[in-house]
Amino acid sequence: MKPLRAAVVGDPVEHSLSPRLFAHWAQGRGRPLAYEALRVTHPDFRETLTYAREEGVWVGWNVTLPHKELAAQLADELDPTAEQPGAANVLLFRDGRAIAHNTDGQGFLDALAAAGAEPFGARAVVLGAGGAAAGVVAALRRAGAADVLVLNRTPEKAARLARRFGLAYGGLDSAADAVAGADLVVNATAAGLAGGSPLPAGTVFKEGAWAVDLLYRPRETPFLAQARAAGARPSGGLGMLVRHGALAWRLFFGA
Ligand code: NDP
Repeated sequence: MKPLRAAVVGDPVEHSLSPRLFAHWAQGRGRPLAYEALRVTHPDFRETLTYAREEGVWVGWNVTLPHKELAAQLADELDPTAEQPGAANVLLFRDGRAIAHNTDGQGFLDALAAAGAEPFGARAVVLGAGGAAAGVVAALRRAGAADVLVLNRTPEKAARLARRFGLAYGGLDSAADAVAGADLVVNATAAGLAGGSPLPAGTVFKEGAWAVDLLYRPRETPFLAQARAAGARPSGGLGMLVRHGALAWRLFFGA
């Protein structure tokens, strides 16, 4: 049987564990699958997607940074999971069409539940306003968070995301005050990829607060180390990766 083709597409993409995860699942299920990590720059994403539609060899892509919003914009069809946040982390290819889904949000909620964190009624702060943050914000709203504040390095991007959901927003310069009163702080920035935390040194966390980093490499990211030292309950991104990946697998293969 000819192996089916799938990929994780992003820039950078070398850090992604998706190829190992999908290879593991394919082997366990006896399904021939050629799964690649495709580094595609942002300016090249549109053309690469056009070519992929025509090629007709792809089952689907896991879309990672920085392409999630563009993937939702360029898709031929939007599943409601991608429509609400305006960001897609999965593209399914069917009959020359690309269908956008978002499994980040549900993967995030499932990982929170597994860690024992309760979003219902929580005052949440989301750091970051990119594609992953959009899925997280939509999920937190769905799960009944009492309040979600979006803070981003570039405040205009925070404004754009927050307005979609009628939420408050700001720059990272207001993060220390906001974090001090939050039950749940989610780092959905890519700051950790460059070895940093988006929070200023000395940031105080509320007692019992959860600090969730979407980044999963290294296990203890700078943000998580900072949160742990400040007495918060840290939770890394590996649980979310496995859960949104499993949802993507089901979309690709049905079971
Ligand atoms: P995007 O490129 O769409 O967005 C990146 C975000 O990070 C923007 O808000 C950007 O701010 C911010 N940012 C980048 N560098 C810095 C910095 N040095 N300091 C502060 N903010 C910074 O990426 P995604 O939203 O797709 O991914 C974000 C992170 O989440 C990545 O680390 C990714 O690996 C992780 N992730 C993990 C998942 C999991 O399963 N565990 C799933 C999805 C994502 P600005 O707008 O100012 O540029």
